[in-house]
Order: sequence, then C-alpha cells, then structure tokens
Amino acid sequence: MSRMELAGEAEIGIGVARDCYRDIPLYKPDRAPCQTDLSDNTNLWGVPPRALAALRSAGGSAITRYPDLYATRLKEALARYSGLPEEMIATGSGSDDVLDVTFRAFGKTGDACAHPDPSFPMIPLFARMNGMRPVSFRLDENFDVDPEEVLATGARVIYLCWPNNPTGTLISRDALEQIVVNAPGVVVLDEAYWEFAGSNNSDLLAASDRLIIVRTMSKAFGMAGIRIGYALAAPHIRLEIEKSRGPYKINALAELGAVTAIDEDMEWVQEHVAEAVRNRERFTSDVAAMEGYEPIVSHANFVLIRITDPRLPPAGEIARLMRERGVAIRPFARARGLGDCIRASIGPWPLMQRCLDAMPQVTDTVRAGPSR
Ligand SMILES: *Cc1c(COP(=O)(O)O)cnc(C)c1O
Repeated sequence: MSRMELAGEAEIGIGVARDCYRDIPLYKPDRAPCQTDLSDNTNLWGVPPRALAALRSAGGSAITRYPDLYATRLKEALARYSGLPEEMIATGSGSDDVLDVTFRAFGKTGDACAHPDPSFPMIPLFARMNGMRPVSFRLDENFDVDPEEVLATGARVIYLCWPNNPTGTLISRDALEQIVVNAPGVVVLDEAYWEFAGSNNSDLLAASDRLIIVRTMSKAFGMAGIRIGYALAAPHIRLEIEKSRGPYKINALAELGAVTAIDEDMEWVQEHVAEAVRNRERFTSDVAAMEGYEPIVSHANFVLIRITDPRLPPAGEIARLMRERGVAIRPFARARGLGDCIRASIGPWPLMQRCLDAMPQVTDTVRAGPSR
C-alpha cells in the first residue's frame, strides 16, 4: 500500500506543516451577497472618483512590468497625507499584510503577543502564524486598558487598536502613553479607523521608537479591493518591517489608484467621513431608543450593539434573521464583558434605515415564538 493510501491528504499536510499552523482556520465570515451589506466596515459610498478614472485609463506598462520595489510614489503620497517623512513609512498589501510582517519582524517563536479582547479577530491568528503565543487582556467598563495588566504579560509585541474594532471605543491617551513608554518590545497601534475618530497618535512617534502605527486605505478611502496598508514608525523600525515584507508587494495598479486618491480625492474622502460620523450619531440614538438593543458609543464607521433582552436568541441567529430581511451585520457571540453583540457598518442613511427597520422585525418575530 502506498503512503498516499495510508494517509489522507489532510494528515500528510499535518505531518509536514509547522505545528503552530495546526489550529489556524481559514478566515471565512459569511460573505454571501446581501442587498444591504453592513458587515465589513468598508466605505459604503463607493470608490474615490478620480482614483477610479485613473485605474480605468491605466497603461499596459502597469501590467507588463514589475512595480516599484518598495512603492516609492505611494510612500511620497502617504508622507503628504500623514505629515511624516518617507523614511518613517512602510507599505503592504492591506494593513493585514503590514500587521503580519510586523509580527514576523519583531516576534520570536514562543514570544507572547498581547491584544485586547474583544478586538480585531485576525490578531491572534497572525500571532500564531508567526509562531507567537496570543495573550489577551480585557477592556474595563470604560473600554480602557490597565497598563500594568498589559505590561505584566511581558509581551514582545503589544497590539492596540484606535478606535478599537469591534467596540468603536478609544482607550485613554494616558494608558497608551504608559504602555508605549514601558513596553519591553514594540507596540503596534492599529489606526484603521482613525479618520472617523478625528484623532490619532502619530505625535507619539517622536517620543518613542517602540511605537508602530498601522493604517489602511480600505476603510475611509474606500479601496479595500486594491489592498493598501501602511505603517508609520521610526526609520530603523520601518526598515525591519520592509525587510520582513519583501519587494514588489504593492502592485502597480494599486499604487496608481492609491496615489491618485490621496492627491486628487481628499475632498471626496473627507465629505464621506463627515457624513459617516453624522449618520453614526443618528443611528446610535435611534438604536438606543429601541427595546432589547444597547448601542456602544462609537468613534469609528460602525456601531457595536449589545443584545440586552434575554428573550432574544444568540447573535448568530439574529444575524441570520436580519439576513433574511436583506441586511447583513456581523455577529459577535459572547464578547468578553459584553455578551452577545451585533456590529453594523455606517453608510448612506437609506441603508441605515433598512437596518433600523429590520431590527425590531427580528425582535417581534422572536418574541412571538417560544422563548430561549
Ligand atoms: C479592516 C481592518 C483591518 C484590515 O484592513 P486591510 O487594510 O483591508 O487589510 C485592519 N485592522 C482593523 C482593526 C480592521 O478593522
């Protein structure tokens, strides 16, 4: 009998794969098409128009030749946008890639990677993909973190998120500064949604070379499909991130689209960020007035909603019932300290209205049936 017959394909995979990959699942949120998709926090107003025009008229050399090694033009544009010099900027294929290669550059096998719970679900996976041990710490009743608890993990990589996904909340500047000043390794601060908070922490980069700020063009800029993320860090830290990332990771079309958006579409971006903030406030107060749901005050382009009525089913079932009514939201089952929650992205008001209409319909359907 050949070895192929003795062992199934999966077992052969397990035999030769790195141990730390054994329990890593593929990322698969429910992405079945849905009329109103409020599940992934992308820009629901669409694409920056000048960037789209530039992509439509891109020449063949953007396809047939290799792109720039480390995306020089993009770094120059991001320097104009962030107000920081190019030597402090590294780019990657989405901020997912930037986070992954940063963990690889600074975390050794077996090191702890500390992150808040709840937070971005990819973080413990990126930690394990790089041989690190994910260690979580809690958010307190004000959604702040305790610097002593965070530092007590001894983690060589500490991840924080401003505003935090999925809560939409901000930790205090005081806690952040204490962690950055006392961290034994690097502090990775994910500012994927900072544009919607109207505040960021790039001023702290001058005080510490331990801080790495990671951002994306997937959210406020509406360009998740072309995968542009970037890091802001001291020049010698940026260099390590670029070594870990490798050359040619920003494709030429993506670079063209991103540079055009930064140089020509800022008004479009700012207008829709402002509208998202207005709609977020309105949506939050409408949900607060609803029975059975409790919104958490958000600084991002999404709102996390606690399910407070014990007669309502688990978050996954609410998500399914909302989908039946044409609205996709992201469920969070038993979020630490919060219980079951759903998260809705903020977009043009008619979409938010559909979500607001579906929520009480779901509540009524469930209450009419047997209680859980
Ligand atoms: C969406 C998101 C990202 C990933 O963004 P990409 O640049 O599209 O990879 C990173 N961090 C957080 C917190 C996010 O919500």
